[in-house]
Formats: sequence, C-alpha cells, structure tokens
Amino acid sequence: MSKHKAELEAFMSPLREKYGNEKEFLQAVEEVAETVLPFIEKNPKYKKAKILERMAVPERAIIFRIPWIDDKGEYQINTGYRVQMNSAIGPYKGGMRFHPSVNLSVMKFLAFEQTLKNSLTSLPMGGGKGGSDFDPRGKSDNEIMRFCQSLMTELFRHIGANTDVPAGDIGVGAREVGYMYGQYKRLANEFTGVFTGKGINWGGSLIRPEATGFGAVYFTQEILKNVGDTIKGKTVAVSGFGNVAWGVVKKVAELGGKVVAMSGPDGFIYDKNGITGDKIDYLIEMRSSGRDKVKDYADKYGVEFHAGKKPWGLKVDIAMPCATQNEFDVEDAKAVIKNKVHYLIEVANMPTTLEAYKLIKDSEVIFAPGKAVNAGGVATSGLEMTQNSIRLSWSAKEVDEHLHKIMIEIHKSCIKYGYDKKAGRVDYVKGANLAGFVKVADAMIDQGLV
Ligand code: GLU
Repeated sequence: MSKHKAELEAFMSPLREKYGNEKEFLQAVEEVAETVLPFIEKNPKYKKAKILERMAVPERAIIFRIPWIDDKGEYQINTGYRVQMNSAIGPYKGGMRFHPSVNLSVMKFLAFEQTLKNSLTSLPMGGGKGGSDFDPRGKSDNEIMRFCQSLMTELFRHIGANTDVPAGDIGVGAREVGYMYGQYKRLANEFTGVFTGKGINWGGSLIRPEATGFGAVYFTQEILKNVGDTIKGKTVAVSGFGNVAWGVVKKVAELGGKVVAMSGPDGFIYDKNGITGDKIDYLIEMRSSGRDKVKDYADKYGVEFHAGKKPWGLKVDIAMPCATQNEFDVEDAKAVIKNKVHYLIEVANMPTTLEAYKLIKDSEVIFAPGKAVNAGGVATSGLEMTQNSIRLSWSAKEVDEHLHKIMIEIHKSCIKYGYDKKAGRVDYVKGANLAGFVKVADAMIDQGLV
C-alpha cells in the first residue's frame, strides 16, 4: 500500500467504524481527505490541531419531530434535521431539503460540503444544512404551510441572522421559505435576515433563483477559457428539472451554447436545435405549475423523449449533472469517456459516485466538482445577507456582476491550489478542496480548541 493510501485508510477507518451506515457522509469526507491529507502532511500545524478530524464532526446536529395534520385530518409525523457543521468563518449557512431520501447521512454530507463551498465563496459564512424526509410532491398548499409551520416551531430556537441562516434546496423554494420565515417571525418577534431565498418584496435578492445555474455557467466559462476554448457553439446535456438546471439552460443559451438534452423524473428529452427562447419560458411555466414530466416538452415541441433514461449516453461537448447526489455512476462515466465528452461539470452536490469519479480522473475528461461549480447559489445568498444588513436592495445587474466576479475568483483559487505542473492541467477537485479547507482550517487554529 502506498504511503498516501495508508494515510487515507488510517484517517477513514475510525470514521467508517463509527459512522458505517452514513454512506453519503463517508463518501464526501473521503473525497476531501484524499486530496487534503497529503497537504496536511506537508503542513504539520493542521495535523497537530487535528483540523480535518474536527471538521468531520458537526459542531451540533439537531434532530426533531415534525407532527402535522393532513387535509384528511390524519396525523402525520416527519423527522426534521439541522446539522450545524462549522462556524469558524461565519454563522452556519446552508439550505433546507425536503425529500424522502433525507436522513442524517445526507444532511451531514451536505453540511460538510457546504462548509468548504461557503469558504470558497470568500464570504463570511460557516457551513450547515437541514431538511426533512417530508415529500412535498402531491401535497396541497395548506399541507405544505402546516408542515413548514410545525417544522419552524422547533427550528426557530436554533437559528438566527447571526447564528444560522437557512435557505432553499431540493423541494424547498420561495413558497416553503415564505411559510418557514413567516412562522419564524411570529415566534421570534423580529424581522431579520434569518433566511435567504426570500421573496423580493420582503428582503430577497434579485437573481437568487437563477444564481446557482448562472454561477455554474460562469465557472464553466473560466474552465474553457483556461484551455483556450469558449462556450459558443458547444452542446450541453443537463439532468434535473429545478431552478438550477433552468439557470444553466438560460445562461448557456445567452452565451451562444446549446443545451440539447434535459432530464426529469420520467426520462430525458433530446432537442437538437437547443432549448432556447420561448422554450425556456415553457420550461419555467411547467415547473411553476408543478408538472415535472419532461415528456410534456417533447410533446409540445415534437422532439425525442427517452423514457426512464439518463442523458449521459449522448455525444455532447459538456455534461452537467444538476439533479442530485450519486446520479452519475460508472456506466455513465464509461459512456462519457467513450463519447469523448470534453467536460464533466458537477452542478448538483456530489452527483458523481466515487467509482465513477475514479474512472473520470484517469481519463481526458476535464472534471469540476460541485462545491466549486455550484457555489454561486450560496454566494448570492451571502449577497442577500449583505443587502439585508445594509437595508438596501441591489439591482439585478449589480448582483449578477458580484456573482460573476465571485465565480472568477473561485476558479482562480482552484488554479492556485490545483494546478499540476507535471501533468500540465488543473485538478479542480484538489484545488477546490484545498482552497476551501485552508481558510476554515486557519480560522479554527486562530480560535483555539473549540
Ligand atoms: N442549497 C444551496 C446549496 O447547496 C444553497 C444554500 C444557501 O443558499 O444557503 O449550496
């Protein structure tokens, strides 16, 4: 076993023993440890202070009961979570996810990733994540409101504008943020910027809904620029059907690229002319009316629909998984390599399985990890917090310019920490992990053993 592998094993095995059933959490930590441990070996101050060991344990994790009554008058019980991972560089910050797959492992993985991601944005935000195994699909508006109110009746005592600032994520959009915020305000008796992703009339920021997707495309532009390429004329496949995918589609079209494939829970569509113009508006309309079948798009525009399939078998220039964790597996990696897809840009949080990543890493495909690519979402949340603090609202142009600059800076940080001279290419995983780690680690050292 190589020295490097032995170090990784020595670090991971106690975690595996303790948290063996937390598959996603262990996966996220291992991916970071693999690149950060050699750096720690060279910088013993981090080793002595056991920074990575400390970062792998949440400062606090709250698990709570969410009782609510459905429209038929029946009692329902869900589990709520808030993992307050790390507050070394700012208040805990991260979204709330409502999805049946939510459990402690998923929450911990997301909060761990969030800590490094938020650090990359250069804004003062610690890492946290929360949510519930509640499934918003098929629920009435009143059920969603009662659920959100019950959740917040417990959560409100653990959050605050200077303590922990939640936001949206999968299954949590403007409506859910509104209901949670309303109940927070009622219980805390104060109007503060305790949430981001708020409505524009009550403290929200312009561009926040599109920010993750826009930021991902700005980051992609930098990757391409770095190898003398541009997004103009490129074909792109995306998965996912939420805000994030929509932001990607819109920005790619604006910059002269073509998103030719998009997926939903029912399969994917292939539109060789690209999703542009009024087709994007139609997508938004589909989403806001709660329809999540991409087949509707295929029927309306007469394009191919592939039921139950993922879009990764297509010969495109850029693949952008925007849906959820571990959606991109070994078979997908093999297809992407075979089809000579040039770039695999993670937009969701950890969409690539560890095994798939290993194949991609040894291939020609340029890979960028979600924590750098999708950081524009939380960065714009940081900008929302700033606007709330100074009690001003910036124009869309101002917010977009900040966002663009932040993404350019994140790319620079990835180059700084991830450029491999020998290979003549950037290791974006290493770059993002190290850049995110160093800022948090130094703050933890400054603040002593807490
Ligand atoms: N849920 C988003 C993320 O994964 C945004 C979090 C936020 O805005 O706080 O980064």
